[in-house]
Amino acid sequence: MHAGHGGMRDMQVFGNGIRPELIGRDMYQLMSELYPLCRSITGNGVRKTLQLLRHQISLEIREVPSGTKVYDWTVPKEWNIQDAYLKNAKGEKIVDFAKSNLHVLNYSIPVKAKVSLTELKEHLYTIPDYPDWIPYRTSYYRENWGFCLSHKQFQDLTDSEYEVCIDSTLEPGSLTYGEFVVKGRMEAEVLLSCHICHPSLCNDNLSGIVLMTFLAKYLSTLPVRYTYRFLFIPGTIGSITWLSLNESKVSKIQHGLVAACLGDSGNFTYKKSRRGTAEIDRSVVHVLKSLGNHFVIQEFIPFGYDQRQFCSPGFDLPVGCFMRTPHGQYPEYHTSADDLDFVRPEQLAESFSALLAILNILENNATYVNQNPECEPQLGKRGLYRTVGGQQDTRTRELAMLWVLNLSDGSHSLLDIAERSSLHFDVIRDAADDLKEAGLLKEYPG
Ligand code: ZN
Repeated sequence: MHAGHGGMRDMQVFGNGIRPELIGRDMYQLMSELYPLCRSITGNGVRKTLQLLRHQISLEIREVPSGTKVYDWTVPKEWNIQDAYLKNAKGEKIVDFAKSNLHVLNYSIPVKAKVSLTELKEHLYTIPDYPDWIPYRTSYYRENWGFCLSHKQFQDLTDSEYEVCIDSTLEPGSLTYGEFVVKGRMEAEVLLSCHICHPSLCNDNLSGIVLMTFLAKYLSTLPVRYTYRFLFIPGTIGSITWLSLNESKVSKIQHGLVAACLGDSGNFTYKKSRRGTAEIDRSVVHVLKSLGNHFVIQEFIPFGYDQRQFCSPGFDLPVGCFMRTPHGQYPEYHTSADDLDFVRPEQLAESFSALLAILNILENNATYVNQNPECEPQLGKRGLYRTVGGQQDTRTRELAMLWVLNLSDGSHSLLDIAERSSLHFDVIRDAADDLKEAGLLKEYPG
């Protein structure tokens, strides 16, 4: 009935038919396939991950050589690992990389030696508060080796000497990342980014990876207004590298989100962009309010995921961070307990729907000018007032039309009107569509 402002209008209709629970199931299935891979900021685990994503979307896999200068940083040597273990005096493997890739300090240099228990302990990491869990630790920019193990395993270490073996390589190679673009009618871009550098950890970071993959897959079936750029990058060094190599594209980015920790059972959390009042910030807040559940809005801080690079002062991009329970605020964070049981398909599905609702606002937000600004136009004679009134939805619809007519002076967007009227964006947009059809609104600047 309504042509709508943007392609997402049709998407909402189609979106109702896509059944998020099925997408939730598919995202969880992909997560299960990605879970065993030993990822890091470089190496074959990342390549294998991106190759698996290529079964869903035809993303470009890019390689940036080690040693490349990227602003104040340098692309590091490439790390790969085949095997690692710790053997006791009887020659029994008591810690085994084959059982969990978290057992190795990520980016460990190769080592094969017999060491005393005292020396070994300087290279061991545990979580005494959760004695069954294996911690996830990294040493990217300082050459070191180590093992991560449960505190229970640690307490069983009584031999005076142990055999350590880490069969890894740290050599010139490249940093690998993935990029996928959904072409829209406009050159203006929405940047959607997730980090891909964590090994067997589900909420941080596989939830972000599978959500971005299925969002990209879905958007590529739609006629969209914005161009969507999806980045699958290692944390920190990946965003620094991308920004450094793509400065010419940065000015096209009008909105952006970093997605992480989106599969747990917690409420949504949104960390605002550095700008704080960007359209993306306001769109996310509007969606979270309309979902009706408790949610948390955090002001920008220069800490957290890749948002800190996108929001560095030299770029100051309007990029926020969308999460459920934030990093560091759940005990399973960066431990072996962030596993396939910690994340549920239903929660991934709910996160997917929320992300679509946010993009729906970006796609459909617009500013209009009332063509009949001297007093209210007579809506009844144009068929815009229902003759039989009184129903709640009719009253809401009429109130929405009055708000749109009143505030459409070229300086208020539909999102502004939705915020000021406390009506849902979709109700405001529908009202604007009806008024536009009746010739009462013209798009600004036109
Ligand atoms: Zn992390």
